[in-house]
Amino acid sequence: MRDETRDGGPRRVGQVKEVTSLSNPIIKDIKALTSKKDREQTGTFMAEGLKLVIDALELGWTIRTLVYAKAAKGKPLVEQVAAKTVAKGGLVLEVSEKVLSSITRRDNPQMVVGIFDQRWGTLEALDPAKGKTFVALDRVRDPGNLGTIIRTADAAGASGVILVGDCTDPFSLETVRATMGSVFALPLVKASPEQFLAWQKRAGIEVVATHLAGAVDYRTVDYVKKPVALLMGNEQSGLPDSLAKAADRLVRIPQQGRADSLNLAVATAVMLFEARRHLLSLDADR
Ligand code: SAM
Repeated sequence: MRDETRDGGPRRVGQVKEVTSLSNPIIKDIKALTSKKDREQTGTFMAEGLKLVIDALELGWTIRTLVYAKAAKGKPLVEQVAAKTVAKGGLVLEVSEKVLSSITRRDNPQMVVGIFDQRWGTLEALDPAKGKTFVALDRVRDPGNLGTIIRTADAAGASGVILVGDCTDPFSLETVRATMGSVFALPLVKASPEQFLAWQKRAGIEVVATHLAGAVDYRTVDYVKKPVALLMGNEQSGLPDSLAKAADRLVRIPQQGRADSLNLAVATAVMLFEARRHLLSLDADR
């Protein structure tokens, strides 16, 4: 991200800048985060909403820039978040609603947007203890599906989401929106199919793969004895044979009606809540 203000002067880290011009270079850089290339180059991404920004800071994510609408100025929580951003050496921008709309591409934007450093986990750092559930997604393509799955995995108490092969970016605006903040709560790991399978063997993880040709009813599997990775197939083509064959179990969710499959995020939710049924109770939630 550039280190200069609209008037070309040096950026004074930790100060609140007022910005009303859409052509301000910092605003241009923030808007560029809608492109995957720019997110990768800067290693950052955008998250909208005061609650999300507060949660992210509480969970120790690094904020680079806080942007808030003029109308939010003076609100105690916004002031607190701004102070935290300044304390961490980040930049705080107070902007017009027009600027905020153009950053978020929304007519009625959230009052607060945070630019954070991306954070990727590694397979080695995932703790393969009994009672842990991981979600492994083969080439997930739809940003909304990925966001919904991350949110659902978090809600079900899963311990990480593994993106196997060429997946959509979890740090895109659409995915982050759909996670409703859970993007900050769960480790996200990238792996090739070979890396995923090698890790699963090394770590003693049971891979329960879902497939429309699965011969096993998903409700008959023992999800208790070992840590489990639920392996879900690509939206269009399902799991490739190489992954399906390597799985410990190949399960199917019985269906009725005309649809030949469930939506990927729905199927993942069904699997997660079955695999973690023994660990979830109303008495113990939160
Ligand atoms: N045309 C694809 C196929 O033939 O596999 C459909 C893929 S489906 C939309 C996406 C993924 O959701 C599947 O690969 C599988 O992981 C999961 N899925 C959806 N419905 C399922 C079911 N009834 N049983 C098991 N897995 C299912």
